[in-house]
Amino acid sequence: MSWTEMALNGRILVVDDAMENVQILHAALQDEQEVLFALDGERALELARSQLPDLILVDAMMPGMDGYAVCAALRAAPETRDIPVIFVTALKTPEDETRALEAGAADFISKPVNAAVVRARVRTQLTVKRQADALRALTLTDPLTGVANRRAFDERLEAEWRRCARAGLPVALVLADVDHFKAYNDHYGHQAGDACLVQVAAALRRGAGRTHDLVTRYGGEEFAILLPQLDLHGAEGVAHRLADELARLGIAHAASSTAPQLTMSMGLASLVPEDGQGSDTLVARADALLYRAKADGRNRYRVDAAAGAPTPGRKVQA
Ligand code: GH3
Ligand code: MG
Ligand code: MG
Repeated sequence: MSWTEMALNGRILVVDDAMENVQILHAALQDEQEVLFALDGERALELARSQLPDLILVDAMMPGMDGYAVCAALRAAPETRDIPVIFVTALKTPEDETRALEAGAADFISKPVNAAVVRARVRTQLTVKRQADALRALTLTDPLTGVANRRAFDERLEAEWRRCARAGLPVALVLADVDHFKAYNDHYGHQAGDACLVQVAAALRRGAGRTHDLVTRYGGEEFAILLPQLDLHGAEGVAHRLADELARLGIAHAASSTAPQLTMSMGLASLVPEDGQGSDTLVARADALLYRAKADGRNRYRVDAAAGAPTPGRKVQA
């Protein structure tokens, strides 16, 4: 992809209290970009949250909420924190520039604006943003299996924990660990073990397919499946599907003392976050239940009986 192609088709939010300035910027950008606009700071924040633009051009001086305040508010919210902001300003003193940079501006465009300069600055910021997004996606992906990694899990768990605390909704977690995987490696070789993990990850993905579900490689041969807004009953349904998908793979495991096929054990927990309770409580519960599933013979799941499970500790497979 060429530099110019990469810069095309971004979604740009233009914020200016003067309609004529909005029109000038719109005219400069409309051939290359999708342009949204807002005439005040509050509306700009609304649009930023709901439309997630790739870039925001904001007028520094506006009545009410000015460009600096808009920038600070964008930086304060996780979902809008990474959207670059270009200040469009008639102010030119070093103090003005410093203030905008401290508020988090990526660049400046001076008024009166020149259309070619606007297009070039916008392309540059979009290219930088795309590179940053691609790098970030890499840091959140497990290279072997292609599912999300531990870092992604930690970030999403925190975000869902806070969201569900506000909404009074549960967050469910399944910790799944492949049984006798050391023996699998010893018997079939490490490369076969790697290929096996790739298949297991794909099977888990098929088993947990709601849009908000997140399958992550938690470490080694252990996977964490985050299930926002699901109670224990719902999580048990998912656990059955996960086990079914794994069984469907039918991976032979001649060195397993549990079954002739590859199996896994799971710990299930679901909690409605309470005041002052950290998300580590959820992980600790699921982990303790995974340990119990292992101790009770593997190839099964255990649920949190303390949370009022209707049928705690049913086996997954006979
Ligand atoms: P248990 O049933 O108690 O879970 O036994 P286990 O052998 O599965 O558990 P243990 O923790 O003793 O061993 C885990 C094994 O998983 C050892 C390690 O070499 C293997 N493993 C971890 N990550 C990878 C990987 O990326 N590729 C391969 N091939 N093996 C891995
Ligand atoms: Mg294991
Ligand atoms: Mg393990």
